[in-house]
Amino acid sequence: MMLKRQTEGSVICASCGVLVGVNDDTCYNCGRRNPGLWGFGPALRRLGQDLGFVPLVMGATITLYALSLLLSGSRIQGMLSPSTEVLFLLGASGAVPVFQFGRWWTVLTAGWLHAGALHILFNVLWIRQIAPGVAELYGAGRMIIIYTVAGVVGFAVSSTAGMYLPRLPILGGAAFSVGASAPIFGLLGALVYYGRRTGSSHIGQAGLQYALFLGLFGIIFPGVDNWAHAGGFVGGLATSVVLDPLKRERVDHLIMALACLALTLLALITSFVTALPVLMR
Ligand SMILES: [Zn+2]
Repeated sequence: MMLKRQTEGSVICASCGVLVGVNDDTCYNCGRRNPGLWGFGPALRRLGQDLGFVPLVMGATITLYALSLLLSGSRIQGMLSPSTEVLFLLGASGAVPVFQFGRWWTVLTAGWLHAGALHILFNVLWIRQIAPGVAELYGAGRMIIIYTVAGVVGFAVSSTAGMYLPRLPILGGAAFSVGASAPIFGLLGALVYYGRRTGSSHIGQAGLQYALFLGLFGIIFPGVDNWAHAGGFVGGLATSVVLDPLKRERVDHLIMALACLALTLLALITSFVTALPVLMR
């Protein structure tokens, strides 16, 4: 794929969105250096409308689940559930990995892992249902930022609750936790905030109804990490407030989104490499 470079005329500042000369050193409005990104801004912006982030999230999630089954081999349990050791190796979060093993980066990886066939089936269906809409409302880049931050907040909250709070029937924090529902709740938070900010009440209502439905599901069924759900929702909502859906998506958001994905990949690799000696004992 070639990125065409614009060499003359004006472009939109990558930070604040005002028109600047493509070769300007700094943006007159926000002071950003190199506001035209060496003339690559327009090409990056065109990429941003269809970066394929939603299929990427779905594809990576399914691939990691297949890998976790493959690595579990004969230790696959119940409903096509990978073994706890393998989930630990690939980056499960929770009180045990984060606090007992110091694997704090698993707050980035756990949202991409799943504990069984139904677990991943439902989550992938929810991603397919919600993520394209959020990408349309916020832009694909901001959708990825919201998704990533919501997962981090959700698993940080759940691991902390699992470590420091007493185990309650519904609100027990998790010793081990995986699953895309923390970031999915973040996307729902983004829909709720969109409705509030823009007055588009049916979008906000839809987000709230989904969140209540899924939240209730988690309270009724045992073994659901409700702290991760609540944390993901709040994390996604707070990130949406900062990103402000009334402002247009900037090239900087795409760069941040790529950084989120790169950090996540780095965290996955770190998980794998550092867990090997633990598992081989
Ligand atoms: Zn600017």
